[in-house]
Amino acid sequence: MKRILTLLLSLCLIACFVGGCSTSSDTPPKKARFTIVTSFYPMYIDALQLTKDVPGVKVICLTKPQVGCLHNYQLTPENIKTLERADLFIVNGAGMESFLDKAARTRPDLVTVDASRDLRLITDSHGHENPHVWVSIPNKIRQIENITGPLTAADPEYAEAYRHNSKRYIGELSAIQAKMDDAVRTATKKSFVTMHESFFYLAKDLGLTVTDVITSEHGHEPSAKDVEECIRLMKETNTEIIFIEPQYHEKTAQTIARETGATIYTLDPVVTGDITSDSMTDYLRKMEANAQVLKEALR
Ligand SMILES: [Zn+2]
Repeated sequence: MKRILTLLLSLCLIACFVGGCSTSSDTPPKKARFTIVTSFYPMYIDALQLTKDVPGVKVICLTKPQVGCLHNYQLTPENIKTLERADLFIVNGAGMESFLDKAARTRPDLVTVDASRDLRLITDSHGHENPHVWVSIPNKIRQIENITGPLTAADPEYAEAYRHNSKRYIGELSAIQAKMDDAVRTATKKSFVTMHESFFYLAKDLGLTVTDVITSEHGHEPSAKDVEECIRLMKETNTEIIFIEPQYHEKTAQTIARETGATIYTLDPVVTGDITSDSMTDYLRKMEANAQVLKEALR
């Protein structure tokens, strides 16, 4: 009996190796027919949606999906190697990727798709354009349209499939936008404070006002003077909501909430995530959750 079990086990192991279920790194990966590299996580989701069920496509996120916004991000040698493998490079644009010149020097022949082409950008008081365009479903739909054309041109054999995916995803995005619109229809509050400049486009879509931004740059704690000014502005404008983001510490928000009596809620700008089998629907799921939070916060 023992011998039979040993034999069966050996056969299983042989079958496993022959069948290719070994995960050894020596096994050469199956070569993709068409490789798309995206600059960061939000664009990675777009590429997954647009290439759904298209054979032989590999989508790679250039930066780790936990990196978040690419403000001041510098390309690593590993990133450059990844770009060398790309057939198409999809970026958010609107100033989010400050490394595009370097990327173009690395791969002058690489077609780079600027998803924010022709989008109307919001400019701050210093004249800086706000790159967080994707945190607005109408903008996201424009981005999908901007990507679809160059994608079909780069891989024409599957143009019909890409167009089909584009139409399907835009339909799904529009359904979530209807929930966003519904959330503000009954709103009694129309202004809020945020942690960084992520939600200006969303506010504009929904007719809301961003009273103040607590931290203007990633990793920079606001000064005591910034906090004081924020509290003053909130009192002056009767702002009762602070939207924090999962990517930020909420200590400052708590201090401000204590001083103003405001309530803290979490909105997710869908800038980070984990690369899993669910990544493709992450934008839809998080924006739907945001619509629910808005409904609760603004009423
Ligand atoms: Zn940002």
